[in-house]
Amino acid sequence: MTEILASNDNLVEGTLGSFENRDDALNSANRPGWQQSMKAAIRSSRQLLDQVGLADVNVISAMAEKEFPVFAPLEYVARMKKGDLADPLLNQVLAVPQEFADVGGVADPVGDGSAEIVPGLLQKYQRRALLITSGACAIHCRYCFRRHFPYADAPTGMHGWAKALETIQADTSLDEIILSGGDPLSVSDHVLKQLIARLNSFSHLKRIRIHTRFPVVIPSRVCNDLLNWVESSRCAVYFVLHFNHISEIDSNVIVALKQLRQAGATLLNQSVLLRGVNDSFEAQRDLCLKLVDHHVLPYYLHQLDLVRGATHFEVSDEHALSIVESLRKALPGYAVPKLVREIAGQPHKTPL
Ligand SMILES: *Cc1c(COP(=O)(O)O)cnc(C)c1O
Ligand code: SF4
Repeated sequence: MTEILASNDNLVEGTLGSFENRDDALNSANRPGWQQSMKAAIRSSRQLLDQVGLADVNVISAMAEKEFPVFAPLEYVARMKKGDLADPLLNQVLAVPQEFADVGGVADPVGDGSAEIVPGLLQKYQRRALLITSGACAIHCRYCFRRHFPYADAPTGMHGWAKALETIQADTSLDEIILSGGDPLSVSDHVLKQLIARLNSFSHLKRIRIHTRFPVVIPSRVCNDLLNWVESSRCAVYFVLHFNHISEIDSNVIVALKQLRQAGATLLNQSVLLRGVNDSFEAQRDLCLKLVDHHVLPYYLHQLDLVRGATHFEVSDEHALSIVESLRKALPGYAVPKLVREIAGQPHKTPL
């Protein structure tokens, strides 16, 4: 199950709105900039290494790429340090042979399969349900716990979500809907606007939460059409962003964050603690401070979900706890994320 996330052209096609056919859509100069960015994204380790001045390095794994394709937009690649194989951004997206040397790990470590109440709608916790809004993402993160999730089967579009929306409408114990995926912002604003309007029409809902990496990876996704539906939502809108490293935050990202905030959204961040990316006190401190400087509150720091192919990113609980303990001493309380692990079947994310 690998042609599932962002680079899957069928899924990207589903996001292209009203174009008659895909070629027209892909060739059209009228497409929003962020869709052009998706089209122009790097789609192989070879291209990626060329781009960062490491063309002569031999770390490529065709097998890993076949299992989970490489996908990284150029504006994200541009933030990588040239000639540095240890770059924390590069390591989030480069397919490496270790993915097959990894021992352990399962296909669905967080029990998403059994939490699906109707197609595309997951409920694990009280008051809130999660809609797999789209299978596509802005980037393919090698450590993603959803790398084996059968996204291609997830319904998308107002028609595809009909059953999920009926279920949400009927269940008045819900007061919050989380749009997730994949990445919900891979859906066109034309369609998102309809979805948000529909959710706002259910009076028991009070909050809509968007789990997305787009503002991090392709900040131009935060366009006027998006800001309009955020601003006009009756329900409070929360964005849970996904920054892992301070180098991901450049001036374009800072503008996007400011626009989201000005549109009335509350901004939170969740990170994954990743060996070789952000597994030091300094990396976490610098990230958290930069986030709070730009009005983004660190929410969760996740211990890795042990998905097959990603266990080389694992950080021990002992080291994770020592990093967070040091953060508590160094930072104001609101800048310290909660260190959690997701345990399938538990009624909430589990603090360490
Ligand atoms: C993580 C998750 C949530 C959100 O949990 P919070 O602790 O509220 O952030 C909701 N639903 C599902 C299915 C999840 O996996
Ligand atoms: S971590 Fe999020 S953005 Fe990255 S591949 Fe997974 S679902 Fe997509």
